[in-house]
Amino acid sequence: QAKLAGKNCYRYYSRAMDHAVERRVHMEQELRGAWERGELHLVYQPIYRTRDRRLVGVEVLLRWQHPQLGAIPPSVFIQVAEQSGLIEQLGPKVLRAACMEARRWEAVAGGEQLFVSVNVSPRQLRNGDLSDVVVACLAESGLPASRLHIELTETAVIGDEMLAASLLDKLHRHGVKVWLDDFGTGFSGLSHLRQVPVDGVKIDKSFVADMQRDPDDLALTTAIIAMCHALGITVVAEGIEQEAQFDLLAQRSCDLVQGYWLGRPLSSTQLVQLLKTSP
Ligand code: C2E
Ligand code: MG
Ligand code: MG
Ligand code: MG
Repeated sequence: QAKLAGKNCYRYYSRAMDHAVERRVHMEQELRGAWERGELHLVYQPIYRTRDRRLVGVEVLLRWQHPQLGAIPPSVFIQVAEQSGLIEQLGPKVLRAACMEARRWEAVAGGEQLFVSVNVSPRQLRNGDLSDVVVACLAESGLPASRLHIELTETAVIGDEMLAASLLDKLHRHGVKVWLDDFGTGFSGLSHLRQVPVDGVKIDKSFVADMQRDPDDLALTTAIIAMCHALGITVVAEGIEQEAQFDLLAQRSCDLVQGYWLGRPLSSTQLVQLLKTSP
């Protein structure tokens, strides 16, 4: 009896797995060529300076609108792109498009100072020279290097600190800044800051979300800001959804802030509108 149930159970499990694998393979096939078919586009989430709430930059976020499947979240398709290796073709396209777009904002007052922060996956770091791609994109677009930021996650840095450090060095020599994304979710944040001297860290939104009810999260956030400032590192907080969160971060002199309360990711047209209406 038990054996039978176990067997059925296994069969069910295996079928569910097949289904998941099938979906994954299907998604990978669909993602191939999605850029060329115009299903992928970039949105730009405003980043503000806390001190005067001035718009200083944007984070570039990729969106996939599939004709049948609808909007597929990056948390799903970026992982597929990463695991299949597609990210190696996609990543440079995002970088290039972001640089080209940032140049267009220069025509609007305030836009000539806006930085663009581009997410880069671990795989883009390990295969091929990211700094070559960055330099080519800057040259082609004419965007000043100082207006490009690269966001690396802690997981991209873990295990290959030497590689990350040498890449960082190259990017720095060209004048490009590097931020550590989702900071605090990895394991050894402190040692990374020593081995991989980044220009900024982005405090993960899970800290910001729990700051008000969890004293530990507030203490950690406060400590991260103080530590980074002692090291001369810029601190960005992401995921600000409420004024109270903004206030807590402002009191602690967090340099830059980003989140739905301040601004949702925008199309390029919407961003230009925002620039035009910003003081
Ligand atoms: P991330 O780099 O940490 O980006 C921030 C994510 O938080 C974005 O999700 C953004 O829409 C979301 N967010 C912003 N403000 C708030 C807020 O107030 N509350 C909440 N709950 N969320 C907020 P998104 O666009 O879904 O992207 C998810 C992740 O996918 C990104 O996390 C990044 O790791 C990855 N990703 C997105 N675009 C790219 C890309 O072009 N290349 C690579 N390699 N990864 C990307
Ligand atoms: Mg990011
Ligand atoms: Mg993040
Ligand atoms: Mg917590």
